[in-house]
Amino acid sequence: MKIDVREGDSFWYYSQLFNIPLQLIIDSNPDVSTQQLMVGTAINIPGFIKRPHTVDPGDTLWSIATHRRIALDALLLLNPDINPRKLKEGMTIDLPYKVTKPVVNGKQSYDFSTMVRDIKRLMALYPFIRQQSVGRSVEGKSLYELRVGQGSQVVHVNGSFHAREWISTPIIMAFLNDYLLALTNRETIRGLSMAPFYDNKTLSALPMVNPDGVDLVIHGLPQNSEYREHILEMNNGSTDFSQWKANIRGVDLNNQYPANWDIEADRKPNHPASANYPGPQPLSEPESQSLAQLTDDSSFERVIAFHTQGEVIYWGYLEYEPPETESIAQEFARVSNYEPDQNVDSHAGYKDWFEMKWQRPGFTIELGSGTSPLSLNQYEEIYQESLGVFLANLYL
Ligand SMILES: [Zn+2]
Repeated sequence: MKIDVREGDSFWYYSQLFNIPLQLIIDSNPDVSTQQLMVGTAINIPGFIKRPHTVDPGDTLWSIATHRRIALDALLLLNPDINPRKLKEGMTIDLPYKVTKPVVNGKQSYDFSTMVRDIKRLMALYPFIRQQSVGRSVEGKSLYELRVGQGSQVVHVNGSFHAREWISTPIIMAFLNDYLLALTNRETIRGLSMAPFYDNKTLSALPMVNPDGVDLVIHGLPQNSEYREHILEMNNGSTDFSQWKANIRGVDLNNQYPANWDIEADRKPNHPASANYPGPQPLSEPESQSLAQLTDDSSFERVIAFHTQGEVIYWGYLEYEPPETESIAQEFARVSNYEPDQNVDSHAGYKDWFEMKWQRPGFTIELGSGTSPLSLNQYEEIYQESLGVFLANLYL
């Protein structure tokens, strides 16, 4: 919600008036000086929308405020041009409405455009989110990263490396939405207050690493892709893409990282395929490259890549991981009931590369059980299991 600054008002006053943490208001207006607000400047109040209200017979601004438990001054602020003594029946005024429900509905086929629409909604409601596109997929879709928080320690999560594992994207988006709601409504999640997390950590999320692949699994063969024939060929002529893991040109993005990539190249398919082809060389694909670049630029304290399925937390890579990785994995396991697993015979994954390059904790978490793509019937259960991990990632 945007309001126009009045004479004598301050961010502090708006924080009191709307009961929104001061820091969130300041961070929602990065281009506005906190020292002296200029009268007439439009500023963002996070967590609020304006709702039109038609004046009923006998309504006064006071009665509306009392009835709806809104501060009278908030009504005056939102409706600067009306005369509070002369409300006319049938006229429309704006009421401030505090958003208490999520806009993200994760329990649906969550394609790229659904994610983009939700990112736009979240950005409008919570302008203290920082959003950037860190690159583009083969088909030109933006790889969006969202950041929440002001802490110097940056913890990163990502999802949908593998196309058929797309349920990891709405899980991340839903957590972000719940975190934002708890921050603006000063609510707890599982008894934990969120404000200290906002101050002490910065959460970085790249919810969809492989948007072309996700859309292929959800919608089938793209209409205008130059890869149409090639995609069909890689899928052995079938138009059922439900088992597709790779990006749109048949490279497995989680077999792309320079961490003993040669071992995977020797034993995996040596040509583009729906799954497991490590590519012609490490980081040959724009998606894996963009995430590597983001990681190089960001000095992440730790990273979590969400996949499906197996209810497992992979946490080690050839003992490059620092000692504290084990205790973090144990806490993730405690709160999710997933099984921690230090070693698996696998190389060239994002987590492997992260631990090898920085000697910091990295995790591959396999959400849910059964076969991918997982049914949305598992969505609630997976969300509850991963919620503990998201929270632990903020308090550890
Ligand atoms: Zn996977």
